[in-house]
Order: sequence, then C-alpha cells, then structure tokens
Amino acid sequence: MTQKKVAIIGAGPSGLAQLRAFQSAAAKGEPIPEIVCFEKQDNWGGLWNYTWRTGLDENGEPVHCSMYRYLWSNGPKEGLEFADYSFEEHFGKQIASYPPRAVLFDYIEGRVNKAGVRDMIRFSTVVRWISYDTGTEKFTVTVHDHSKDTVYSEDFDNVIVASGHFSVPNVPHYPGFESFNGRLLHAHDFRDAREFTDKDILVMGSSYSAEDIGSQCWKYGAKTVTSCYRSAPMGFDWPSNWEEKPALERVDGNTAYFKDGTSKDVDAIILCTGYKHSFNFLPDDLRLKTANRLAAADLYKGVVWVHNPKLFYLGMQDQWFTFNMFDAQAWWVRDAIMGKLAIPEDKAELLADVAEREAREETSDDTKYAIKYQGDYIQELVAETDYPSFDVGGACEAFYQWKKHKAKDIMAFRNNSYRSVITGTMAPVHHTPWKDALDDSMEAYLQNEAETTPAE
Ligand SMILES: Cc1cc2nc3c(=O)[nH]c(=O)nc-3n(C[C@H](O)[C@H](O)[C@H](O)COP(=O)(O)OP(=O)(O)OC[C@H]3O[C@@H](n4cnc5c(N)ncnc54)[C@H](O)[C@@H]3O)c2cc1C
Repeated sequence: MTQKKVAIIGAGPSGLAQLRAFQSAAAKGEPIPEIVCFEKQDNWGGLWNYTWRTGLDENGEPVHCSMYRYLWSNGPKEGLEFADYSFEEHFGKQIASYPPRAVLFDYIEGRVNKAGVRDMIRFSTVVRWISYDTGTEKFTVTVHDHSKDTVYSEDFDNVIVASGHFSVPNVPHYPGFESFNGRLLHAHDFRDAREFTDKDILVMGSSYSAEDIGSQCWKYGAKTVTSCYRSAPMGFDWPSNWEEKPALERVDGNTAYFKDGTSKDVDAIILCTGYKHSFNFLPDDLRLKTANRLAAADLYKGVVWVHNPKLFYLGMQDQWFTFNMFDAQAWWVRDAIMGKLAIPEDKAELLADVAEREAREETSDDTKYAIKYQGDYIQELVAETDYPSFDVGGACEAFYQWKKHKAKDIMAFRNNSYRSVITGTMAPVHHTPWKDALDDSMEAYLQNEAETTPAE
C-alpha cells in the first residue's frame, strides 16, 4: 500500500497537537503517513507567537496574532495542561496557576521541541487554495513560500485545517466612527496597555476580550474604563473607575452616547466585538461556516467535515478547554486517518451526530453546564484513543473555582492556585498579586516561584 500524505494547515497549538499525535504513534513503531504542516508565520505557536506588528506582516500577509503584550492566561493552567507533558516536567517545578503569555509559549514549545517535529513544518508558507478532485480522491494544496517567493501545488490524501478562528476581526460600524477624534481600534490590533495610561477608554463588548483588555488598561493606569454591552452586562464588581453601560448608539467628536441616554467623553474606543471563522483558502464545498459555539456546524465528532470525511478541522469550537481539547481531537483525527477508528460511511449518521451535539448544547445556557459539556466531549474522544487519560472532571472543577474567584474579585482572581490533575500537586501562590506584577517577563514570573505553597 502506498504511504498516505497528510497536510496540516497551521502550526498553532492545534496543528502542533496533530504533529505530536503522529509523532507519538511513530515513536511506538507504527507506520505513519507522510506529514506536511504549512505555517504562514516564521515560527510556531499560533496566537501565542507574539508580534508587535498589526495590519500586515513582513510578507504583506494579514497579521495572525491577536494577543497583546501583557496577556496572562485567562483561565487556570490546570484546565489546559497537556496530559503527556506536565508543567512540572517542563519547568522542573510546579508554577503558579495563571502564567503570562511568554511562559505559556515556552511550555507549548517545550513539548514539540522534545518530540522533534519541527522538520515537518514548512514555515513562512501560506496556504492560498485547496481543491478536491473526486476522480483522484486527492486534495490539491496551493501555497506561497515567502522564504523563496515561489508558489507551488502538492497533492494530499487528507487535509487537517488548524488555522484558528480568532484572527479575522468582526468590525461593526456605528454612526460617528468616521469622525471620532481619538484612537479607534479592534481588539485584534490592541498590543500595549501602556498606550492608554491616563486615558479614558471605552471597551465595546462583554466577552473575555472586553473584560481582559479593560482590565489590562486599568492595571497599567487608564484614567477610566467604560464598557458597554448589547445583551447583558459582565456584572463584575468593578473598581471605582470602571463603569458598565448599555449599548453604544453613536459617537460625536469624542463623546460616546449610550442606549440609556447617558454619554461619556473618551480618548479611545476598543472594539471587543469578536472574530469570524474565516478560511479564504477553501471553496464553498469544503469551507466550514459556523457560529462560535461548542457544537460547531457540520463536524462529526467535532472534527470530521461531514460533506467530505477526508477533511478535518481542529479547534473550531468555542473554547473553555484549549490545549488538552486540541490534543483529544488530534489523537482522534490521527487514528481516523490511520484507519484505527472508523468514520461511518452513511452521511445521515454523520449529520445525526452533529444534530445531537447541537441539541445537547442548546439544552442549557448555564456556564457550569457548558464547561461540563466540553469536558464530556474531551472525555469521549480521549476514551477512543491512546491519549493518556486524565481527570477531566478535576479540570472542570478548576474552571468552576475560577468562575467563583472571578465573581469574588475580578482584579484578583489570578492570585488563586489550583491542583494539577496531571501530577496531583498544588500550584504555589504567585509571588506578586496580578495587579502589581507590571513586569510579566518569564524571568520575573518564575523567580522564587516555589516558595509559597497555599493552605488548602
Ligand atoms: C486574545 C486571546 C487570548 C487568548 N487567551 C487564551 C488563554 O489565556 N488561554 C488559552 O488556553 N487560550 C487562549 N486563547 C485561545 C486560543 O484560541 C488558543 O489558546 C489557541 O491559540 C488556539 O490554537 P489554534 O492552533 O487552534 O489556532 P491559532 O493559535 O490561531 O493558530 C493557527 C495557526 O495557523 C496559521 N495559519 C492561519 N492561516 C494560515 C494559512 N492560510 N496558511 C498557513 N498557516 C496559516 C497561523 O499563522 C497560526 O500559526 C486566546 C485567544 C485570543 C484571541
């Protein structure tokens, strides 16, 4: 039998999980397909590969990064830890529960450096177009290699799309935006909170981005933060210089007018209005069109494209869980491609699976339900592969505690610690409260980390 050839689009956490999944099978002596991972940036890590750039990158491609300079994990690390590579294995000790971006990047990189998968990645190579030939039953992937400035095509038996869905901003328009006398930007282009020190800022939206970007600006000395919501307020017990208002209606000069008739003069407006699932390299019959939800449309088991089961998508769900969910998906996709798991041939069966997941998601809009729903999904996939099983319920518990800690004090929740479900050890209390830790370099974060162990 000829060796299968598999393309992976993207070397972010999802694509890297896929590379590690194949490498772990190879390490056990199993014959794996030929793997080619195309990555448009010149390094791996996806959104965690930080750049100061906004707009276009050095090759004239849209900048992928939506992360910002002082970003710290927005959920406890105990909810995302790799089951095959613990934080303790990487750092040689247990570390505090909400690492800054650079620390998490280092952790992501540690696992794939150990696995030795870098050679499978073609960096600075953008996927421009993918088509499927029903005669040859192969995908043709056309790419632009910026390092040589050449465009070429290659055929593959399977394609795995791991290109992420938090990079193409959803940018609404409001009356007066074109004549706003301040800085107007989407969260995708937000990089450094210090830009807004002593400024009055408006963050539009009520999701993580609004909460976290507002919090960053508050931490780095914004004069006031105003946030506005369309459906419901975030409802935290905000500091005295943070006010929540209903929807923005219009802007006049520097004045923002809200639905309740109130107004506020602001220096900057940051649109935390979400992202679009966008795959400009895929034709209609292969292109996922879904809302950002737990049961993504048209994906059997959350990963198999029901209209052509040789095509897979990773990490397209709304995310409570991240790295460990991508792993669960990647191991499952690997086994489906290697013929160790069977995908039903009857399309009705694939669609029924999607419908069941959607119906179950829609049963409740309770947060705890949603966390458990995604935990159950991980458990379901892990049970069908040789990914190391771990206490998913314990990871859910870390998220439940996180929600409670946020409700108690939104500017102090990152000072809490949780127990690792992989090694069983408790994280230390970080040496500096989050609001005072202005230097969030890896060196500053890791210093004296193990000195304080919390009372349980
Ligand atoms: C602001 C922000 C903060 C976040 N904070 C956290 C957090 O604290 N904790 C957490 O667990 N998660 C967080 N996330 C969630 C984040 O989605 C995941 O952690 C993770 O990065 C998703 O991995 P991914 O590989 O699916 O996608 P990405 O990280 O987006 O990686 C996709 C990769 O595909 C590449 N790519 C895209 N298009 C092409 C193409 N056409 N050709 C070739 N390559 C391509 C990109 O360059 C990129 O490297 C955050 C997300 C955002 C936006």
